[in-house]
Amino acid sequence: MNLLMAYPAKEEFALSSIGFMWLCKIAEETNEINVTRISTDTDIVRNNNIDAIAFSMSFDFDYLGMLEILDKLNIPFYKSDRGEKYPLIFAGGPVITTNPRPYEDFLDFMIIGDGEGNFRNILNIINNNNKESALNKLKDIEGVYFAGRKTKKVTEKLERVIYSPIVNNNSYFKNTFIIETARGCMNRCAFCTASYTNLPFRNYDYEKIIESIDLGLSKTNKIALLGAQISAHPKFNNIMKYIRDKIESGNNIQLGISSLRADSVTPEMVQTLVLGGQKNSTIAIEAASERLRKFINKNITEKQILNAVKISRENGLKGLKVYSMIGIPSETQKDIDEFIRLGKKIKSENKGFNIEFSFSTFVPKPNTPFQWAKRENTKSLESKQKYLEKELSKIGIKSKFSSPKWDFWQTVLSRADKNITPLLVYVYKNGGKIGAYKSGIKELNIDINKTIDGYDFTEELPWDCIEIEPRKELLIKEYNRLLKFVNE
Ligand code: SF4
Repeated sequence: MNLLMAYPAKEEFALSSIGFMWLCKIAEETNEINVTRISTDTDIVRNNNIDAIAFSMSFDFDYLGMLEILDKLNIPFYKSDRGEKYPLIFAGGPVITTNPRPYEDFLDFMIIGDGEGNFRNILNIINNNNKESALNKLKDIEGVYFAGRKTKKVTEKLERVIYSPIVNNNSYFKNTFIIETARGCMNRCAFCTASYTNLPFRNYDYEKIIESIDLGLSKTNKIALLGAQISAHPKFNNIMKYIRDKIESGNNIQLGISSLRADSVTPEMVQTLVLGGQKNSTIAIEAASERLRKFINKNITEKQILNAVKISRENGLKGLKVYSMIGIPSETQKDIDEFIRLGKKIKSENKGFNIEFSFSTFVPKPNTPFQWAKRENTKSLESKQKYLEKELSKIGIKSKFSSPKWDFWQTVLSRADKNITPLLVYVYKNGGKIGAYKSGIKELNIDINKTIDGYDFTEELPWDCIEIEPRKELLIKEYNRLLKFVNE
């Protein structure tokens, strides 16, 4: 069988996506399968001998890369236009697991949840059957989604550690051996899809992680540890100590960790990062106002935030990026002003330490307690951004912002139903920019109001066909529990 493993973005991002690269490795290890890895920048030559194409979709806008690849291969976008002579086309990844509905007219089937174990079975079925009979047999596999059918998310036990199978200079993270140490996060911030769609939190055994670190060090000196909340690994300090001991005994190791959790930063942790060449790090506070942090279930206190900055400064980091969000439901001007107050406090306690605030805007995501929430108006978010930029610069803090206009369309894509699918084709054909989305909804007469205004608890949601724990009733219960912080 000839399988295309397709990444809907440039190769540098494919190489840095260990989930995708790991599935390529699984496919390559499966007998009788010829695997070709492609990305949007691969010189794709149309080939009539392709039996199946597997896409990995991590971000809401990845559909553009998927359509681009199908276009280059001269394959019709809609599955109803593809007969037996076309390959089986399927996808998995976080975007698909949270809401497959917008893509179900493109894809023959989708994989919901973790892919490692399921992928091998799926490939075996495709390899041993013609298209029609493969599709029939796949209907019996847990976690395989067919349009509109109730499907349970698959949750794997983490056994074989996932790491970068290819380490080279072409990757976005150059010559870096990335190791997944844990999956999901137990903190359940009410907006966080990385937590809610990956419950329960799981981690790999300490010994297996150490083996992977040694394997990585036999290939490169750059090691990155990956996980939604890395320090939640029960033996995280031991892992850091293992790396630190190696550095102190003369090994040149560059260590990368995506972000630190404010309530778990320790001097040893920061010292190890500094010894591993890291100059700056990130802490995610999400909101400066204590009330708002309680409302989103981000249970860190201001004392812990200030302590994390202090420890980072005292132990050798040069600066810290403080990651936050604006537009969280119930946010008021008072909450926005809290950023300025907190910024001043951090600055005065940490003279000479480089602090940058980085803001995204709140995008309500399926399968979280905020999945029903209204998205704030773009103009109001833009004016909050201007205000913050001006006021933070007055106190010497640089700020960065995501684009509220793009975050708006991300909201639409995240919470859309299949009525949006023609818009995706339209936007792809018209250049993929914001203007194309705007003209597309007018020309195609597509109503996106629900995706922005939000849903009622009693309404059927487009993604209700995906069974993920915790179920809807528990998300409602959690949302109601958090409501008491709205007026605190
Ligand atoms: S701590 Fe981070 S990863 Fe964990 S739930 Fe909160 S936002 Fe998500």
